[in-house]
Amino acid sequence: MSRVYNFSAGPSTLPEPVLKKAADEMLDYNGSGQSVMEMSHRSKVYEEIILSCEALLRKIMNIPDNYKVLFLQGGASSQFAMVPMNLFGKTKKADFVLTGQWAKKAYQEAQKFGECRAVASSADKTFTYIPTLDPSTFDKDAAYFHICMNNTIYGTRFTKLPETGNVPLVADMSSCILSEPVDVSKFGLIYAGAQKNMGPAGLTVVIVREDLIGNPIEGTPTMFDYKTHADNGSMYNTPPTYAIYICKMVLEWIEKEFGDLSGMKAYNEKKAAILYDFLDASSLFKGTVVKEDRSLMNIPFVTGNEELDKAFVKQAEKAGFVNLKGHRTVGGMRASIYNAMPIEGVEKLVAFMKQFEADNK
Ligand SMILES: *Cc1c(COP(=O)(O)O)cnc(C)c1O
Repeated sequence: MSRVYNFSAGPSTLPEPVLKKAADEMLDYNGSGQSVMEMSHRSKVYEEIILSCEALLRKIMNIPDNYKVLFLQGGASSQFAMVPMNLFGKTKKADFVLTGQWAKKAYQEAQKFGECRAVASSADKTFTYIPTLDPSTFDKDAAYFHICMNNTIYGTRFTKLPETGNVPLVADMSSCILSEPVDVSKFGLIYAGAQKNMGPAGLTVVIVREDLIGNPIEGTPTMFDYKTHADNGSMYNTPPTYAIYICKMVLEWIEKEFGDLSGMKAYNEKKAAILYDFLDASSLFKGTVVKEDRSLMNIPFVTGNEELDKAFVKQAEKAGFVNLKGHRTVGGMRASIYNAMPIEGVEKLVAFMKQFEADNK
């Protein structure tokens, strides 16, 4: 068996020990005689899995007791609508920072439900930086203030949170959740599709402060109301059972390998620095993002020559470094190096880039 180094932006590489354990348990989970995929979500054996997944997530992210953790489906994209549907119960107004395509999608979707304002944008420079925010321009009566914490496509991240006062801060953390510690109490709501840093596609995690639940806009369907899921322990209907099981093992892996999210962050910083340091020194490749806003998870880079970019992606794939093509809207290359990408993967990629640089002098 030979596994590639997978730099996909998502779904993305998973920790090998997790995949091996899943394989071992595929036909018979823990003496139950069934695969987790086959068992009733209301069985004792499954209940243990979902409860320990939630408990572990609460422990690792240090989630305060007045927050609910919801295991949903529909992807982060469904949250672009569910957030306004649930938070626009009183005031139908929200502020957004436009830092890329996902932030823009959240903004455009919310416009279907109320009055949305872009308080800042980095569109002028193809989203290569995080705009400076002036809290005096924020709407103090807004129902929420939305940011995309890590911009998967452009490779930027917020390192400082906006001061939103009493307005709940809502963050799309799809591509950075679990990559470093965050103070959950600073947020009203956090959401993330699981397929970047938590597990397989199909699971969407929402962490929401209790007082923001229970006041949806009129006509909100039962399944889109956070209260439905909060009141039923994410078991109102069938949750994405297998994805939750894998997520639980990913959380166990983080604890075992890195201890906590500070340990995870240290590993991610070390890993990202290997690639960024090379890009800064290279005569051929260069990063596209301003230094102070660089993502730890998604690293876009270019050679400045489209033909050479194409040749690089092709040769890299042959050498076992896959999914390095940049997003179709940006071009060039992007290496997504989520939690599960081992340091050796980045070291070997940099060695390959050095050779490519020497060959193309
Ligand atoms: C991948 C991604 C999304 C879309 O997630 P889906 O689960 O496919 O809907 C949204 N926001 C960010 C930041 C992402 O990285």
